Amino acid sequence: MKARVLIIEDNQLTARGLQYLLEREGYLVTTVVDLKSAKQTLATQDFELLIMDVGLPDGDSFSLVRQLQDSLKDKAIIFLTARDQEEDIIRGLELGAEDYITKPFRNRELLLRVKKALRQPLGLGKKLTIGHFSLDLEAHELMIDGKIIVLTALEYRIMICLMENAGHIVTRERLLDEIYDASGRVVNDNTLSVYIKRLRQKLRPRDNISTIKNLGYRFEVPQDGGEDV
Ligand code: CA
Repeated sequence: MKARVLIIEDNQLTARGLQYLLEREGYLVTTVVDLKSAKQTLATQDFELLIMDVGLPDGDSFSLVRQLQDSLKDKAIIFLTARDQEEDIIRGLELGAEDYITKPFRNRELLLRVKKALRQPLGLGKKLTIGHFSLDLEAHELMIDGKIIVLTALEYRIMICLMENAGHIVTRERLLDEIYDASGRVVNDNTLSVYIKRLRQKLRPRDNISTIKNLGYRFEVPQDGGEDV
């Protein structure tokens, strides 16, 4: 369930830096250098997020968004602009971009923006369904086999994080970050263990969170598929 990101950027240095940064965070990244190849790629592959430089060799990326408006509706978009392109920024936001970021940007800032853009519920269903589990991102509800499981806000955050990364290990550090963000107070390592334990009890008998010793946790993807794509 790793998010797929398409980078459209003609500056090789920026593009390579971005790709490296995002891949290191576990995103699946494809990079193209102009509108033409962007269109070709978008015709055959699916992405959750597009990061597009505004000025490209064969036009500006706003025209691409306008052209493909319908098929891009359910995708998060972040525009990259130079610092002196304020008007661009406004046009970009009018086109429905989630966000923009001015170059040069700090890596940490970019990653936060990416995370935020992807946090927005995607698509029409606004549901994350994996096997027997279904997270309704609008209603903030977890359902297992169609039955609502009552979670605390913290448990819900943990569940989103684990399900978004289904099949991959989510480190304890990462979870602690998430929880801290949500509640505004520090949660220590022992408390996290308690939360997870309580959460797993609620998921029974469908509990499919694995503890990866000394590392973190993994939401297991069921063998029989059923993963929502
Ligand atoms: Ca450019």
